[in-house]
Amino acid sequence: MGKIKVGINGFGTIGKRVAEAVQLMPDMELVGVVKTRPDYLARMIVKNGLKLYVPEDKISVFKEAGIEPSGVLEDLLEEVNVIVDATPGGIGAKYKEVYEKYGVKAIFQGGEKPFVAEKSFSSLCNLEECIGSNSLRVVSCNTTALLRLICILNKYFRIRKVRATIIRRAADPKEDKRGPVNSIRLDPAEIPSHHAKDVKTVLPWLDILTTAVIVPTTLMHVHSVYIVFEESINKRDVIEALRTTRRIILVDTRLTGIDSTAKIIEAARDLGRKRYDIPELIVWENTVYTNNNELWLMQAVHQESIVIPENIDAIRAVTSSPNVHKTIELTDEILGLGKFI
Ligand code: NAD
Repeated sequence: MGKIKVGINGFGTIGKRVAEAVQLMPDMELVGVVKTRPDYLARMIVKNGLKLYVPEDKISVFKEAGIEPSGVLEDLLEEVNVIVDATPGGIGAKYKEVYEKYGVKAIFQGGEKPFVAEKSFSSLCNLEECIGSNSLRVVSCNTTALLRLICILNKYFRIRKVRATIIRRAADPKEDKRGPVNSIRLDPAEIPSHHAKDVKTVLPWLDILTTAVIVPTTLMHVHSVYIVFEESINKRDVIEALRTTRRIILVDTRLTGIDSTAKIIEAARDLGRKRYDIPELIVWENTVYTNNNELWLMQAVHQESIVIPENIDAIRAVTSSPNVHKTIELTDEILGLGKFI
């Protein structure tokens, strides 16, 4: 089989990272990306020799800005096996019909409603059952983080219920219009928050409740997760289970001094991680608390990059029949996951 031909619609926080990851994969070819505005990123795309596609009604705007597009979205759809929709939340659903019309497989993001795609997707939970789907929705950053933790633990111990508090970043670093700037806002002012429902789109059987607040930071989210198991567990076994995937990194504050999101980000910068991306879920090892059948821990989520490995796995799931273990391994190896500190 030749390389999987991939297009990206929406070249923002998620789209540009998926595009770079696709370019690194030995079994994928990035055919082109769709942009709606002739900004510096559009110039970068062209400068890097990538094909840029634009909406029909924007061709003249790009030409006036001195950028020559390769065509419109429909031209890109003629050339690809799969399109990754990384347009803003809710916009992807508007493209669903056109992707279907061109017989192109589609990967949507977590800002879309679950019914936009055949299934909601999380690599460590349901990759196998998503193989062969025509469309998948990679769940949001917070949901991806919760599901990675839950599905790894559920492989080794039977989970009775999950309760989690999500402390959300207010905005991504580039977003200068969002807030709050000086407040902690309930999001929403009721329990459960939508995150629990989103987890259940992948694990419908799970007893889970979540609550969420938004705080004035742009770096990462933090979760406080409490899990009750059917049987007694101990801290050492939990830590060993979490070590079995490169998508989770255990950080011990006593050995590293890393006890905040700011210090995680600084470590990523010192390690030369591009844009300080941390696609791995960070679990603070010394917060892992166990008592009989209870577990409590704290984890941190780099919202801008955590869903990138899942997007790569989802592309393979809709276009080929990958071995679950091998595709995750390949993604992790090529993206260099698990090599932190
Ligand atoms: P973004 O605003 O950074 O990027 C969206 C891109 O789509 C922009 O380049 C924008 O110009 C372009 N766009 C706008 N309207 C368009 C249209 N009609 N057609 C084509 N392109 C259009 O958004 P994002 O943060 O990358 O989010 C994309 C999706 O990923 C959303 O569903 C979001 O919920 C989800 N997501 C975001 C994050 C995050 O932290 N940013 C994390 C996980 C999932």
